[in-house]
Amino acid sequence: MTATSPVDADRRFVFHPFSNAYRHEREGATAMVVRGRGTRLEDADGRQYLDAMAGLWCVNVGYGREEIADALHRQALELSYFHGFSSMATAPPALLAEQIIARAGGSMTKVFYGNSGSDANDTQLKIVASYNNRRGRPEKKKVISRDRGYHGVTIASASLTGLPAMHAEFDLPLPQIRHVSAPYRLWNAEPGEDDRAFSARLADELDAMIRAEGPETVAAFIAEPVQGAGGVIVPPEGYFEAIQRVLREHDVLLIADEVISGFGRLGHWFGSHRFGLEPDLITIAKGVTSAYVPLSGTIVSERVWKVLADGPEGVFQHGYTYSAHPLGAAAALANLRLVEEEGLIERAERQGETLRALLRDAFADHPLVGEVRGAGLMAAVEFVAERDPAVRFDPALQVAPRIVRASLDRGIITRALPAADTISFSPPFVVTDDELADMVAGTRAALDQVAGELTR
Ligand code: PLP
Repeated sequence: MTATSPVDADRRFVFHPFSNAYRHEREGATAMVVRGRGTRLEDADGRQYLDAMAGLWCVNVGYGREEIADALHRQALELSYFHGFSSMATAPPALLAEQIIARAGGSMTKVFYGNSGSDANDTQLKIVASYNNRRGRPEKKKVISRDRGYHGVTIASASLTGLPAMHAEFDLPLPQIRHVSAPYRLWNAEPGEDDRAFSARLADELDAMIRAEGPETVAAFIAEPVQGAGGVIVPPEGYFEAIQRVLREHDVLLIADEVISGFGRLGHWFGSHRFGLEPDLITIAKGVTSAYVPLSGTIVSERVWKVLADGPEGVFQHGYTYSAHPLGAAAALANLRLVEEEGLIERAERQGETLRALLRDAFADHPLVGEVRGAGLMAAVEFVAERDPAVRFDPALQVAPRIVRASLDRGIITRALPAADTISFSPPFVVTDDELADMVAGTRAALDQVAGELTR
């Protein structure tokens, strides 16, 4: 009954996320990752990898940071856990909330803690519902998201996610969720349409949807500053300005999903600061702890808070056993200290510029590359069957997954994004110039290999 090795135990007993269960049971994992330092990982067979994705866009300060390990060790010995359900509290989440609020700026005033980006977005929908119920507007409940937005996998957050492949199997989205077009220049802009005109057209689409649904029924709009898992889609000039004008006109709250972009990846503490968003609610996870332990949060603005806190009646009936976990908060405090003391936000911006320049040199002129794009330390290369006008590959060819596999054979971890022939790069902020050069050279060699296979 005992498995012979971790690989065997994994194959026999673990139900992997986003896996083909049938295939995993037969083939198992291709590697057991056992060690990480900086941008580098090692597997049980001693193979080395460069992690161009910082895990899943999250290990911002790099693997193996002693400062965070020490903070976790000290906190676990001092007080491993207590909850915040009653009038009692613990110190680390309190001190962390103060820091988050100071960095979020604007009118942000409170942090509600969770465990993952998905549950934090569920919390957002409950906050929005409570806000409108308390204001005597129970019909104002619909939430508009965007195609290609990625907001998580719980019933509500998967509904917000704008990737149809994540809906079909589970009878989603929920009936109160709508989606508008993504600001995806490569495929959604008209020929000759400039950024401003494209942004205005997308804002008109949102306006038309809100009017068609009835503004009295639309509660919130949710957006990532840069769409991550949907394709690293950077908003065109003027986009959020035009969108926010529409939201204000119809009294619709803005939720900024900063699960990837929060805490430095876009060269600012928050992506909202870079793209001029003035959100009413912000979702955070990943980079708040650099994924050393799970922690997420929803940051609430004064505008929303004063409704939730109006009057002594009514308890906000929501919270997790692990809301405000002291270990998560201790890791986050140590992580934010590293980000600040090592100037990692400025470094993320600098290394992002280097990465984009390397990607442009290596990929931009290739006949199978439709676009090299990115912002801060997030970048993507999208592959096309033909360039001008752009024509997609037949999805059955699995071009991006094949390039990712061929990169992995060269020790480079990238990611194929769902529903697009796109591979992404989102390395730790501590990545060096040489590591960036190796990542780009490895993926370019992978493209050459797959391009050769396609023409054979
Ligand atoms: N929101 C965004 C923007 C994300 O990128 C993700 C995960 O990648 C989530 C939400 C969901 O977070 P989690 O996987 O922690 O549930």
